[in-house]
Amino acid sequence: MRYVDVAIIGGGAAGMSAASRIKVLRPEWNVRVFEKTNFVSHAPCGIPFYVSGFFEHFEDLCTYDVNYFRTERGIDVHVNTTVLEISEGSLVAIEEGRERVYEWDKLLFATGARAKRLNVEGENLEGVLFIDDILVAEKVKKLALKSEKVVIVGSGYIGVEMADAISRLGKKLTVIEIAERPLPEYDAEIAAILKSEMEKKLDLRLSERVVAFEGRERVEKVITDKSEYDCDLAIVAVGVTPNVDLAKRVVKLGKSGAIKTNSKLETSKEGIYAAGDCAETFNIVTEKPDWIHLATPANKMGYVAGVNMAGYELDYPGAVKCQLTSFHDLEIGKAGLSEFEAIKEGYKVVSAFVTTKSSAKYFHDGLIHLKVVADRNGKLLGIQAVGRGVGMRIYGATALLYKKANVRDLFFTDFPYYPPVSRVWDPLVVAARNLFRKLGLP
Ligand SMILES: Cc1cc2nc3c(=O)[nH]c(=O)nc-3n(C[C@H](O)[C@H](O)[C@H](O)COP(=O)(O)OP(=O)(O)OC[C@H]3O[C@@H](n4cnc5c(N)ncnc54)[C@H](O)[C@@H]3O)c2cc1C
Repeated sequence: MRYVDVAIIGGGAAGMSAASRIKVLRPEWNVRVFEKTNFVSHAPCGIPFYVSGFFEHFEDLCTYDVNYFRTERGIDVHVNTTVLEISEGSLVAIEEGRERVYEWDKLLFATGARAKRLNVEGENLEGVLFIDDILVAEKVKKLALKSEKVVIVGSGYIGVEMADAISRLGKKLTVIEIAERPLPEYDAEIAAILKSEMEKKLDLRLSERVVAFEGRERVEKVITDKSEYDCDLAIVAVGVTPNVDLAKRVVKLGKSGAIKTNSKLETSKEGIYAAGDCAETFNIVTEKPDWIHLATPANKMGYVAGVNMAGYELDYPGAVKCQLTSFHDLEIGKAGLSEFEAIKEGYKVVSAFVTTKSSAKYFHDGLIHLKVVADRNGKLLGIQAVGRGVGMRIYGATALLYKKANVRDLFFTDFPYYPPVSRVWDPLVVAARNLFRKLGLP
């Protein structure tokens, strides 16, 4: 194949994975990455841990620095460079204050997602921060350290992790959530356990809608439909939206609003690919297109896009949407669908909720609450858990969901037994056995 110019827009997980793969497979090609911040290969997942002081140096949020990619991998990285416009075979970027034009033969959108706005009065006030990208991490940390009262709007996993971080700093903290429970993607039984743990550490306000932020020069109050809360800092984490401002002028978007891709991660235009949080992909459980904006799919989508862009063939199978999070000592995780999500998808469901120890009885390290959801034919649809030993169970469940396993598979998988961390009858196996009864199985 002749010498090829590759342009990658976005130097996060997806963009750098793709760039690295292409350079491995086609070392002679020119691979340019355009990144609007000063950082590449950054991991926003670490922001809450930086804020709470688990580690000190902000730069540790980046897996590798720019020079590593330039010298070790031969990638032509352009930081502080924003791509403004794309046309057939070329793009315009603003770099060091000047507009420049670059040519491309193959292009990848890896522009990620951005924090949703509330679109209420006062949200542009100083001291109202959206958890958008790693650049916000330093601002949040600095402001949080000198604030007395902090309000977090939203209790999805990012809101919960930020609440964990701020509560560890000993601040007076209020969390406001519009839904009736924290982590609204989880079922009520699981969220109830998190709720009672959060209420021990902070003021949790559920079923309240933020209608404005008030203050003279900077934020002083968050106003809701029920009350008002004084604050020196307001952190807004109410979800994300795919960053498709550039792409929507060039390629088709899917139903989710993210860029439509096929299994090679090619968009509606030949030679243009999309990967990571800006792209719509496939949900292995529902077998439908879905927008799964998480870090492990972003890295793998980047890898697959890179392989295909380099002229080899690799299909991306999709993802099961698995996640892990925590609030102080409580681990929380989910793989696949919760019960209410499965019903919304049109499944006729059965479910089992078990509370048991996750280790042998002579270890005193708490309980795990675990819920398994299946369809009426026994196909596994999702697993959620909260408590101790959650990570291992979600890992196991994710692998089974990936292989489209059923309740019998969950029962017969010989999860390893070791008294400090598991049981001969593992919580996953106990839940599977409960489902046998509901499915009429012996
Ligand atoms: C606080 C927080 C915690 C998280 N925790 C987890 C977790 O525990 N587990 C998990 O799986 N996921 C987590 N995520 C999600 C995860 O970080 C994302 O799924 C992942 O970063 C997506 O990678 P990406 O490469 O698609 O996008 P990004 O990492 O967002 O990279 C996109 C890049 O594109 C650049 N860009 C955009 N437009 C342009 C342009 N026009 N020109 C040049 N550059 C541009 C941006 O500056 C950015 O660097 C978390 C996210 C946040 C915010």
